[in-house]
Amino acid sequence: METLQKTNEPVVNLISKPKDMLRTIYTACRTCYSADLPINIYEKTDDEEKMLSLIEKVISSGHYSTIEHIQVSFAISNISRACSHQLVRHRHMSFSQKSQRYVKEKGQFDYLIPPTIMKNEELKQKYEDFMGEISKLYLEFTEAGIPAEDARFILPNACATSMVVSLNLRELIHIANLRLCTRAQDEIRLLVKKMCQELLKEEPWLKSHLVPKCERTGFCDEAKSCGRKPTLDILKGNQ
Ligand SMILES: Cc1cc2nc3c(=O)[nH]c(=O)nc-3n(C[C@H](O)[C@H](O)[C@H](O)COP(=O)(O)OP(=O)(O)OC[C@H]3O[C@@H](n4cnc5c(N)ncnc54)[C@H](O)[C@@H]3O)c2cc1C
Repeated sequence: METLQKTNEPVVNLISKPKDMLRTIYTACRTCYSADLPINIYEKTDDEEKMLSLIEKVISSGHYSTIEHIQVSFAISNISRACSHQLVRHRHMSFSQKSQRYVKEKGQFDYLIPPTIMKNEELKQKYEDFMGEISKLYLEFTEAGIPAEDARFILPNACATSMVVSLNLRELIHIANLRLCTRAQDEIRLLVKKMCQELLKEEPWLKSHLVPKCERTGFCDEAKSCGRKPTLDILKGNQ
């Protein structure tokens, strides 16, 4: 059975963000230390260098409420259900995901192939044949009147899904810190990388924040380190 997928990677688009991101964060930061009214701070401010300097200081001192005012939304498609299951573990995000109850598969369902399987021709063929078998069985069930909400029980983690996700900047930085780490699984790592790249196209000043956690802390706290930064054990041993 022919596969419908066109790409084997997440497709990510930034669909919404505040137009005045820097000025909003700056106003939140400045309000904490100023006798002036927030609206006056917002309307008077246009010096980008000054805004960035204060924002960097406030973020690096852990005053994260100031970046929670920024909400961004992404349209995501062509990720596996395995990947979406990992993403929904993040609790400060809002999700609207394509339903397997209401959207019945009509032919071969779209699916993702992990790069390790993709590289092995023989196993890739077996994988694709198996997806075809599942698809045939799914169609047999739905044609026999089994509702999609029950027929979907035989669909695999590989099934492609799409979703709209929204989150604030604090949560995006947290997710980037966790999921850009080489310990994160390939697909979610690529997904989060693309989310960050989309936002960086419009807000390049965030580059030093949308990084793996070791880039921010200078050390690795993972049990199995990739070796890019010294582990906590090494740092303690060096003291
Ligand atoms: C490399 C890697 C491997 C993983 N492997 C596994 C695995 O094998 N099995 C598994 O089950 N999960 C696994 N996870 C998922 C992981 O356990 C977390 O569920 C997921 O990363 C969400 O992280 P979080 O709780 O920090 O973030 P979020 O849910 O995004 O929350 C952000 C922050 O808010 C705070 N917060 C949120 N909710 C609460 C709360 N209820 N109480 C107190 N503070 C809260 C915490 O400070 C938290 O760090 C893995 C994650 C990674 C990155």
